[in-house]
Amino acid sequence: MSSVKSPELSRLRSYLQRSLLTWYGRHARDLPWRRTKDPYRIWLSEIMLQQTQVATVLPYYRRFLKALPTVKTLAKASEDEVFKLWEGLGYYSRARNLMRAAAVVVGELEGKFPDTVEGLMALPGVGRYTAGAIASVAFGRAAPVVDGNVKRVYARLLGIRRPLNQAAAQDRLWRIAEELLPARRAGDFNQALMDLGATICRPRQPACDECPIGRLCDARRAGDADRLPVRMRRKALPHYAIVAGLIERRGRYLIGRRPAGGLLGGLWELPGGKVEAGETRAAALQREIREEVGLAIAVGSHVASVYHAYSHMTIDLHVYRCTVSAGRCRPHVHTELKWITPAQFSRYAFPAANRKVFASVKL
Ligand code: SF4
Repeated sequence: MSSVKSPELSRLRSYLQRSLLTWYGRHARDLPWRRTKDPYRIWLSEIMLQQTQVATVLPYYRRFLKALPTVKTLAKASEDEVFKLWEGLGYYSRARNLMRAAAVVVGELEGKFPDTVEGLMALPGVGRYTAGAIASVAFGRAAPVVDGNVKRVYARLLGIRRPLNQAAAQDRLWRIAEELLPARRAGDFNQALMDLGATICRPRQPACDECPIGRLCDARRAGDADRLPVRMRRKALPHYAIVAGLIERRGRYLIGRRPAGGLLGGLWELPGGKVEAGETRAAALQREIREEVGLAIAVGSHVASVYHAYSHMTIDLHVYRCTVSAGRCRPHVHTELKWITPAQFSRYAFPAANRKVFASVKL
């Protein structure tokens, strides 16, 4: 995938290690998970940081640890409590995996986190990157990490001009990361790379003039840093129109809990679903509510329409006030249904699109 050869890497290695570690000593970001070696706290930060920016994670991290300061408290927490603490952070499978991993650590490992990459990767939700980060930062192991930031820095530094999102390219990058890693201070080196990618070697307009490793950077020399890494063009995401009902009965509203395994599993939502081709929104809503909860409904006024982008699709969610005309309420797709008062909405964790609706409506 590139012309990078091991002898070149060997020449780079000592320069890179020295320059990056010196720079990190002066410019490391002061982040709460860097003031500890507690693997629980470092693991939690790494899971939260998957797909999410540092600035977004910070308040969630603090709130989560205040409520659940140890892996034992997390293992005992209810799913509703954990989801509520996670609400708004997205990618809810991460929260479910946190609970499953905490159960393994407490139930099978006497409350102690594994201290090797292999042991950590046996925990639910911990992949090679996260295991490398925890092993190097919490346990001082010489384990490399390759995430979006690291890929960008290495692609530019080494002048890799082929797409990185292919399996062979990924393997090669892991080998490069392993070769460049220092035996000592691997945790600092990994965090320095992440900081460099986040603050200097940014996706757009990298600050090459301030870069501690700029002297040997191939992309800087070639003047094409902004165009690296090369990406394969992605297919356009599918878009769906979704309808949902704010179904009221005697001052309470119907909510359902999504099944654990699927998208947004375990979260609560207003019942509804996709508008099929040729259907009106009202007809789609009546059909979905009949299929999902067994109720015939009258569709009333339009409450709100919101747009939301998930990683694999985008949606327009249209919500209508509804009243029950007939039927018995039974969960056919949800694991649980509840009729709740407006004041109780804040107790449950809802997907982002539902919360956008609640923010624009008076219940
Ligand atoms: S010199 Fe520029 S492109 Fe090269 S690693 Fe530094 S910031 Fe990135």
